Amino acid sequence: MTFETIFPREKRPLLIAGPCSAETEEQVLATARGLKAQGIDLFRAGIWKPRTRPGAFEGIGVPGLPWLRRVKEETGLRVTTEVANAQHVYECLKYGVDVLWIGARTTVNPFSVQEIADALAGTDIPVMVKNPVNPDYKLWVGALERLHKAGLRRIAAVHRGFSSYGDSIYRNVPRWQMAIDLMQEFPGLEVICDISHICGRRDILTETAQKAFDLNFDGLMVEVHPTPDQAWSDAAQQITAEQFGDMLRKLVLRPTTTDDPDFLVQIENYRGELDDLDEEIIHLIARRMMLVREIGAVKKAKNVAVLQPERFRALREALRRRGDKSELSPEFITLFLEAIHQESINQQERIMNPGAAEKRLPASFLWEND
Ligand code: PEP
Ligand code: MN
Repeated sequence: MTFETIFPREKRPLLIAGPCSAETEEQVLATARGLKAQGIDLFRAGIWKPRTRPGAFEGIGVPGLPWLRRVKEETGLRVTTEVANAQHVYECLKYGVDVLWIGARTTVNPFSVQEIADALAGTDIPVMVKNPVNPDYKLWVGALERLHKAGLRRIAAVHRGFSSYGDSIYRNVPRWQMAIDLMQEFPGLEVICDISHICGRRDILTETAQKAFDLNFDGLMVEVHPTPDQAWSDAAQQITAEQFGDMLRKLVLRPTTTDDPDFLVQIENYRGELDDLDEEIIHLIARRMMLVREIGAVKKAKNVAVLQPERFRALREALRRRGDKSELSPEFITLFLEAIHQESINQQERIMNPGAAEKRLPASFLWEND
């Protein structure tokens, strides 16, 4: 798939900002005027709002569309809003909305995405596709494909993090690797970071925006409101236009590379060392697996179960302590060990029950097939 930028522009990053929801004409216009002064490229405001639970403010609907038109007339800014079905698309086209976006709760549903793609066929309107609420890479790519097949090329992706159960500093955990994978698979695709829905709170917006810049995102989407605490939706994560400007001024945009020969030589040397280390790591893991298979054979001879939870717990604790001393995070140690342990179990299973293990599906089956 090849993509075009959602609209022509010279500068990086693309700045998209505006309220979570369009509430009143005054609120929309006040936010747009404040943001125009901060130099944004695209004004956002939700007209139809997908809310997790009923009873919350579900968006102003069609009466809000003329407000967006006034923003265009008064400030010259392009405007964007979320669409979740064909009717939303037709209304937006009627009112001259410049860019549409598909929300996280819609990207999960191929029926809805297809309906939107069909409604857009034959137009040249730019569309931004948020990641699905669950970390399903194929579903995200699938939505891009549906739009692409409908003939659209001005398509961007928006990374807004993923739902999770349990404690996290984020409202939606970023799982940055998924956005990075998308950038690598589709080099011409603009990938924008929606820091507001990732963070869900104001105090970590700046550091998250900096992280997005450091990971070479093409732009930011940020929720901005004249009186954030009084917002009708997502109050905790919205900031004022002035705070948005202050944040921008703190961010450092570093180029992805430089021709400085000193830099290139240094990086080349480090990378060579890293390559050697990676090879060594694989070699060590392969050696570990050889031992694991030997243990498997002993267990089989003595008829002992493969999984020994006590041993795994003890190993994890010991390595977490080691990790602490080596500046490795406990989360990394856990993930790393679980991966090693899973592979060890699979290898021993193959020895204990030769035929059965081959028929078992690998964990990746769930996301590699649908
Ligand atoms: C929004 O941008 O206000 C919104 C509802 O986003 P998401 O689809 O990412 O939850
Ligand atoms: Mn919101």
